[in-house]
Amino acid sequence: MIATPQAIDRAMVENIVRQIIYDRFAPRDARTGYRPRLLVNISARHAHVTQEDLEVLYGKGAKLTPFKKLNQEGEFAADQTVTVIGPRQRMIPNVRILGPCRTFTQVELAFTDGISLGIDLPVRKSGNHENTPGCWLQGPAGILPLHQGVIRAERHVHMGDADIAYYGVKDGDRMNLRIESDCPTVLEGLLVRHSPKFKLEVHLDTDEGNASNLTKATHVELVKV
Ligand SMILES: [Zn+2]
Repeated sequence: MIATPQAIDRAMVENIVRQIIYDRFAPRDARTGYRPRLLVNISARHAHVTQEDLEVLYGKGAKLTPFKKLNQEGEFAADQTVTVIGPRQRMIPNVRILGPCRTFTQVELAFTDGISLGIDLPVRKSGNHENTPGCWLQGPAGILPLHQGVIRAERHVHMGDADIAYYGVKDGDRMNLRIESDCPTVLEGLLVRHSPKFKLEVHLDTDEGNASNLTKATHVELVKV
């Protein structure tokens, strides 16, 4: 069956919030009794936008409206989407915007997306746009030329205070994520991102999720290196 645009869009929506929870494996901290609830989220391609850029795409006074709440406090997948246009007019439609608006506009794609768009993606921590490529974003009200900010987001894990203590790491450290599945994989060098507001959550992209068959994993654990 050939998927209709609506069906594709629905699949992508589901993809962006595809979360796998592995909480029954992590042992309790003997001292504090804390047991981390490790959640692994496969983030599909998405965009973050400034309010100013949103208005170019969706018109004066446009507001992002929540379609689905995400795990981190206050974050949501918005109803609004954009078409990402690369060189030679190759494009990917229905790329979801994540809200709320940020102080920078950024497009996060998987390497597979970069290949189909013809964009050589640099691996970057969110917000680091130095020497990154641009693209065009198209919304119902207009086209936004984006001069930089198209990245392949660096794999990372969000941690709150209790998680930092449990794993014995700090912001900026690196950890490994070991995935047991029929495509067993160790993803090395996950960047630890700490904020008291963060809930424990690993963010991978669709290439990583697919390569390790993560949705059918039997065990996943964070390993200190
Ligand atoms: Zn993240």
